[in-house]
Amino acid sequence: MSYVTHYHASYTVSLPFRLISHPIFMTMLPRLQAAMTWYYLTEGQPKGPIDVAELERLFQFGAIRLGTLIWRQGMSGWTSFAEAFQRAAVKCNVCKQLVPQEPIIRYGTMTICPDCRESFFAQIREGLAPDLKAIYGGFWIRFGAYLIDMVILFFMRVPLQIAWQIYSFSLMASITTQYPRIFPFGASQTFWIAYGIYVFLIFLISFAYYVFFVGKYGATPGKMAVKLRIVRSDRSKVSYWRAAARYFAQALTNFTIYLGYIMAAFDSEKRALHDYICDTRVVKRDA
Ligand SMILES: [Zn+2]
Repeated sequence: MSYVTHYHASYTVSLPFRLISHPIFMTMLPRLQAAMTWYYLTEGQPKGPIDVAELERLFQFGAIRLGTLIWRQGMSGWTSFAEAFQRAAVKCNVCKQLVPQEPIIRYGTMTICPDCRESFFAQIREGLAPDLKAIYGGFWIRFGAYLIDMVILFFMRVPLQIAWQIYSFSLMASITTQYPRIFPFGASQTFWIAYGIYVFLIFLISFAYYVFFVGKYGATPGKMAVKLRIVRSDRSKVSYWRAAARYFAQALTNFTIYLGYIMAAFDSEKRALHDYICDTRVVKRDA
């Protein structure tokens, strides 16, 4: 409207609204939309024009699929049926076609449509299937991610540690004048309460770090750095609750003197103990 607002602003701005909201125009609107002419590409050839109803019929019939390119006047270019009509779709990793989200088969991190199912599993039987080892994150890459997280957490704890040092030294200075040579066992109740809070906050930092990143992004910054992602066995996202459970399960794995991690080296899906407990897998993000 900017091109007319300089002159007769009140008149020119209000006119289109009156026109659009007019009952006659409102009754015409669905018909105008229905009359819009669509074209679709089949075997590289444009077909059409057809109306929306016909387009929908062809889609139901299967002549137009989610990935079929369609166009009508006013659109900047050919676009998939799924995109133009906002239908949920995923890409089949075998035929590279856009297919409906259901029913779909997942294998590793691969998505396979029903049409490709038979040939894909025939390939697996012949040993031509993609290497599963290339899909799951192994021991060393996960260890690398763990070290990165440890370094990040170390720096996140620094302010708290400095605060604790200052507090405990000042307390020690005041206590030693009253109770010489028996610190810290003769320390005040205040000291032990403060120490409890300090230990809890140290725990809370790593717990919150883990649950936030895994629940929101499916990976801690360490795992993101090495392109790993934590998923459920069905490749779905890990919830905040499951992330929290996995944090404690991981603590249990640590309790096994890391034997729970070494398990991953012998498992076909490279599951560590906490992956068994929480029904999770660590996969490569781009696999
Ligand atoms: Zn397919």
